[in-house]
Amino acid sequence: MLDQFDRPLRNLRLSVTDRCNLRCQYCMPEMEYAWLPREDMLHFEEISRLVDVFMSLGVNHIRLTGGEPLLRRDLSTLVDMIASKEGLADLALTSNGILLADQVDELKAAGLRRITVSLDTLRPDRFVALARFNELERVLRGIRAASRAFGQLKIDAVVIRGVNDDELTDLIEFGRTVNAEVRFIEYMDVGGATHWSAEAVVSRKEMLERLGTHYGPIEPVGERTSAPADRYRLPDGTVFGIISSTTEPFCRSCDRSRLTADGMWYLCLYATRGIDLRAALRGGANVDELKAIIASGWR
Ligand code: SAM
Ligand code: SF4
Repeated sequence: MLDQFDRPLRNLRLSVTDRCNLRCQYCMPEMEYAWLPREDMLHFEEISRLVDVFMSLGVNHIRLTGGEPLLRRDLSTLVDMIASKEGLADLALTSNGILLADQVDELKAAGLRRITVSLDTLRPDRFVALARFNELERVLRGIRAASRAFGQLKIDAVVIRGVNDDELTDLIEFGRTVNAEVRFIEYMDVGGATHWSAEAVVSRKEMLERLGTHYGPIEPVGERTSAPADRYRLPDGTVFGIISSTTEPFCRSCDRSRLTADGMWYLCLYATRGIDLRAALRGGANVDELKAIIASGWR
């Protein structure tokens, strides 16, 4: 299943809720949002049915995300339903970490394979300024619990000039203590009320220069994948990544699409129009009909 640029349908990001327990400036800056009505959210059985159809068309990497995915009740039940599907190559989760310490063992037992936790700062005052809630301690506890349960993890940090761009080395050093590969994400213009500006973006080039000044020569880890992060090695062997979606978009090799909690399927993070799979599903479409809708959408 290739699209018009010969990109395979391979990676599916499953948003399991639109709700969140943080209000990151760069994502959901307002205090109040009108959340999706519960009846509009896909049930686990519906998600599972759609996953089967996506997998029959080539998807084999699935990442659970949100909103904050750990706010979805009984998430481990969904993990269990997906993890047991034949042909699945990867099942990962991206979380803000607040509720992770309580859930990580259950998620692992259900078949989750990898965890990424978002962490932009190690300073409590900054955390509150960035995300509105005083939750850094719980996030750090969640990271340590994930490290214990999985042996390793990834930490994603959005880098914003004048906000946390002086913490690149602190985050790498913290990553070492929990066996986490740290990935720096260039600040993206995701629209909404986020007040993105080009000046606030710290480019990959600049991040590499700053880290090189501190650590010495940095080498790219030679690999060709469709993963969004370019990976680099510090002189002591520590590997980190940079996701440069803003200054060096990786659209040419992107194989990701996104299913929202209410069943809208978007072909790109920046897409403004999606395909309503919930309507098809609840309207009685059978497997072949769902397959045809997804296949023609991707093509
Ligand atoms: N709530 C979970 C979390 O924060 O990890 C999962 C969903 S969150 C939308 C997924 C990732 O998108 C997070 O790592 C977050 O930092 C990133 N993100 C959100 N808005 C962004 C922006 N404007 N630029 C770059 N990354 C962004
Ligand atoms: Fe919530 Fe994640 Fe968005 Fe922050 S980045 S507001 S934690 S969904």
